[in-house]
Amino acid sequence: MDNIISTSQVRDITRLERSGTHSHIKGLGLNEKLEPRSNSQGMVGQLRARKAAGVILKMIQKGKIAGRAILMAGAPGTGKTAIAMAMAQELGDDVPFTSISASEVFSLEMSKTESLTQAFRKSIGVRIKEETDIIEGEVVEVQIDRSVTGVGSKTGKLTLKTTDMETIYDLGQKMIESLNKEKVVAGDVIQIDKSTGRITKLGRSFLRARDFDATGSEVKFVQCPDGELQTRKELVHTVSIHEIDVINSRQQGFLALFSGDTGEIKPEIREQINQKVAEWREEGKATIVPGVLFIDEIHMLDMECFSFLNRALEDNLAPVVIMASNRGIAKIRGTNYKSPHGMPLDLLDRLSIISTEPYSEDEMHEILKIRCIEEEAELTSDAIDILTKIATETSLRYAINLITTSYLVAQKRKSLKVDVADIKRVYSLFLDEKRSVQYVKEFQTEFLY
Ligand code: ATP
Repeated sequence: MDNIISTSQVRDITRLERSGTHSHIKGLGLNEKLEPRSNSQGMVGQLRARKAAGVILKMIQKGKIAGRAILMAGAPGTGKTAIAMAMAQELGDDVPFTSISASEVFSLEMSKTESLTQAFRKSIGVRIKEETDIIEGEVVEVQIDRSVTGVGSKTGKLTLKTTDMETIYDLGQKMIESLNKEKVVAGDVIQIDKSTGRITKLGRSFLRARDFDATGSEVKFVQCPDGELQTRKELVHTVSIHEIDVINSRQQGFLALFSGDTGEIKPEIREQINQKVAEWREEGKATIVPGVLFIDEIHMLDMECFSFLNRALEDNLAPVVIMASNRGIAKIRGTNYKSPHGMPLDLLDRLSIISTEPYSEDEMHEILKIRCIEEEAELTSDAIDILTKIATETSLRYAINLITTSYLVAQKRKSLKVDVADIKRVYSLFLDEKRSVQYVKEFQTEFLY
């Protein structure tokens, strides 16, 4: 147990950015009453599914559900992954979100259950609190939350990032001045009463740059009973349990985290970490943040994985698991049994199911327009119309894929706008699924068997 790292050692772990196919999605596009707006935050249509996702999101945010599983079911390209990504966006950085495709579980590097265990533990956050002294010259991030002072807007937040204590102090002063409309000049000793939000001038004194207490969400100038001024700060950071596992399982755990090559982790280590985290919770040093694990193409899992899921969902450190499937009745991998979505009925029975529906032509038109903006490709309105037609006859994803390529074709002919002819050109260059099948049928004798 002595080798287990302390809370302060798990601080500097960065997160990877997510981008790509779903980068236009900024959230679920719901209003305060969780009603979906028809086109908002990059999301179009799919109103029922978005609302259902919003309800689940609220429960996750309130910490009301953990260890629950949701199945997003619907035809290919109907936005199952997009909705899961939107949920991730809304959860914010502090709540872990892990996305895997079920086929990733099958690798030679580690067993299927180890791979799933790691995915589960990546999706559980530990929010760690620490209190330390501020050292002059140290980089600190100070947020002055207007709501703390009780004046003006409740939303304004100012974040200062600097190595210089004088600057932090000066900017903090300016913020307070502008909020309070009361001149606070250098040398004034002030006190912020957290409960009433009132700022009181205690008189002029020897207040220096170091004489403040930053708690990460506010700046507080504190006068102690004996007249001494204190300089303490509270740091809060969130890491996943998996990150703590890795750091403790290897000599160079940090490096393994960055390279992603974490290997298998011994059950004894996990046991120790669970105990340590439980201790931190009891001592009030840490709280658990249940996150979300998204497993796409769920039908790719086999019976062993499904029974693992069934059991893992019962654990008190389980995240919310969202699965996605575009299959109807399918064989469960490795067996001859057929079942809905290729999943065993007992697991299916414990899921909340959200279904996605096919898009109308108008909705596809809107989604394509949003993607054009995201991919910084300008299309004439005729070109978007023809692209929408293609989407209805082939698939939305195929049409989305034509945007960038048609833009390259347009650039080649020195035009900044994509026109119908450019779309036609790429349509003839890249086959969609139907034409590809047709092609294979026509020339099947020439393919290898
Ligand atoms: P599959 O079953 O094949 O995995 P899927 O249901 O997960 O498909 P997505 O990958 O989410 O489908 O959708 C295909 C593309 O369309 C993505 O680029 C996605 O971001 C976009 N998209 C889907 N639905 C919407 C929507 N409602 N609003 C905006 N963009 C969407």
